[in-house]
Amino acid sequence: MSESLTELTKKITVCEACHLKEGRTQVVPGIYGQKNGLCFIGEAPGYYEDQKGVPFVGRSGKLLDKMLEGINLVRQRDVSVLNIIKCRPTTEEGNNRTPTEKELRFCGERWMYKQLNFLSPKMIVTLGGIALKFFSPNTSVTKTAGKMINTDSNYQIFVTYHPAYILRNYNLMEEYNTHFENIKRILNGEMDETNSKEKEQQKIPKQKSEQKSLTDFL
Ligand code: SF4
Repeated sequence: MSESLTELTKKITVCEACHLKEGRTQVVPGIYGQKNGLCFIGEAPGYYEDQKGVPFVGRSGKLLDKMLEGINLVRQRDVSVLNIIKCRPTTEEGNNRTPTEKELRFCGERWMYKQLNFLSPKMIVTLGGIALKFFSPNTSVTKTAGKMINTDSNYQIFVTYHPAYILRNYNLMEEYNTHFENIKRILNGEMDETNSKEKEQQKIPKQKSEQKSLTDFL
């Protein structure tokens, strides 16, 4: 009998396969939206995610939710949100730290690919450079942000910034708004996903009033 996504998630929540189990409060498996839908992927849980057991909470999560709201999408209802690593990487002092490539490979290949097999996303969006490098190690966010790229894995992904990076770099907010508008256009078939060029006849005029500003999230 084949395994269900619920059964897979139960296994993830009790996983003790690597040393990251030692620093966690709980495993953060992710949030599932629709099958064949949109899936956002970040790197690993931080302090607040570890406390709540939910990916992208705190100010970063609030910004992600606002960006989704701007394109009329709601996480869980419409959108899956996963991290490659399911347990919070910590320093010896108990602070957040960037996961190593080995940690990313170990957990991501053990669990996230299986989640993606169930979700079969129509579109994957990576949030930030660490998540991007998991799929495409020789690619940088600065060169590919806002583009759909082929990767070394079986997946095509749309590249954008981590919301925490936007919170520190307010000057990128307009570009971030454009990325999310283009995510919606690609999902709706209004934009060529292979090169992210818009089909001019279906181009949706950008509404100034729909643009998000940083003050919306503070
Ligand atoms: S990080 Fe991944 S592989 Fe390691 S214990 Fe947590 S769920 Fe298991």
